[in-house]
Amino acid sequence: MDTLEKLKILTDAAKYDVSCSSSGSNRKNTSKGLGNGHVSGICHSWSEDGRCISLLKILYTNKCIYNCEYCINRSSNDIKRVEFTPREVADLTINFYRRNYIEGLFLSSGIVKNPDYTMEMLIEVADILRNKYFYNGYIHMKAIPGSSPDLVKKMGLLVDRMSINVELPTEESLKILAPQKSIKAIESSMGFAKEKIVQRKNEIQLYRHTPNFLPAGQTTQMIIGAAKESDFDIMKRSENLYKDYELKRVFYSAFVPVVKSEFTKDVKKAPLLREHRLYQADWLLRFYGFKANDLLNEKNNNFDLRIDPKTSWAINNIEKFPVEINKASYYTLMKIPGIGRVSARKIINARKYRKLKYENLKDLNISVKRARNFIMVDGKYMGARFKDKSDLKNRMSDSSSFEQLSFFG
Ligand code: SF4
Repeated sequence: MDTLEKLKILTDAAKYDVSCSSSGSNRKNTSKGLGNGHVSGICHSWSEDGRCISLLKILYTNKCIYNCEYCINRSSNDIKRVEFTPREVADLTINFYRRNYIEGLFLSSGIVKNPDYTMEMLIEVADILRNKYFYNGYIHMKAIPGSSPDLVKKMGLLVDRMSINVELPTEESLKILAPQKSIKAIESSMGFAKEKIVQRKNEIQLYRHTPNFLPAGQTTQMIIGAAKESDFDIMKRSENLYKDYELKRVFYSAFVPVVKSEFTKDVKKAPLLREHRLYQADWLLRFYGFKANDLLNEKNNNFDLRIDPKTSWAINNIEKFPVEINKASYYTLMKIPGIGRVSARKIINARKYRKLKYENLKDLNISVKRARNFIMVDGKYMGARFKDKSDLKNRMSDSSSFEQLSFFG
């Protein structure tokens, strides 16, 4: 089979993997090298916000000895199986990179033979790119849980970012839907990667030249909606993952029923809007100082899809509002729906010189459309007169269309 045909099959097989956005890698070109990864992702894009840049996103192989219930590549699924060679993947990357089609490589794989063997193949791809083609662009690879720590270390020294997928929000779901995977193996690989990242951070304080280990950090992915976990379960899991493994990102992938499975036969495709709400909430955990317990609880354990999590939190805590824009702290300001970190900073700076009025907010390019129900400006409230929380929720929800555009139609 020629490379192009393999490419068609293995790009298609990789499309359900969502953890491909890039972030702050800083890898400089060398005199005989090619490409350049820097803090704005690869080449041109600033991706601290998680935006995807153009990557060649493929599987090394769709051959897999595992039989995960949700995966199109599971061993019992009757599909055409193909496998690249490490050299083929490296050549494709370089050729696409030279033509400016891509800014980096995102490589994952089915598990062929065993985790160590698969890791060795992936490492060989990275090794050819870095040490034969002197490619300094972005590489994001999936590490295979259960592979030996030495191989995780080798990969971490070659690539910018590594993902080790937790796959599902709870151990119970993992046991049912991916019985050949173990939470212990996944967490042990993540723990090892974290240890090396921290070690490198410490060493760089002491020595000028110390090998770079995962400059863009590690991430993980979990499928949502394949089992019964609530949004609260998912948020708690993410919160712990960020805390325990210093992850850069948790990616959420709405379950899509692509294969016949006894366990998922009655499970419908998870709404993409749910995935979107989880990403919004995840952002609040990482940058706004929210905790999972602030956003949800055992009783109200799922996000209201009609409304974004920050607005929902503000309405549930309406007794904390309205806040006076001229007095509120930075942290209080950024918790107001419609006011983000940048706007909060602008307000703090502007009010050093004068007492702000509504028209001043407009001058600062701050829209009060969402915020008006939660603020007072110079003693004036210009929000809605609502009866209670549910009345306000109805007024603020987007009743038009909730459907988020699908990538894959
Ligand atoms: S290990 Fe599981 S999720 Fe990964 S390719 Fe194989 S069957 Fe799919």
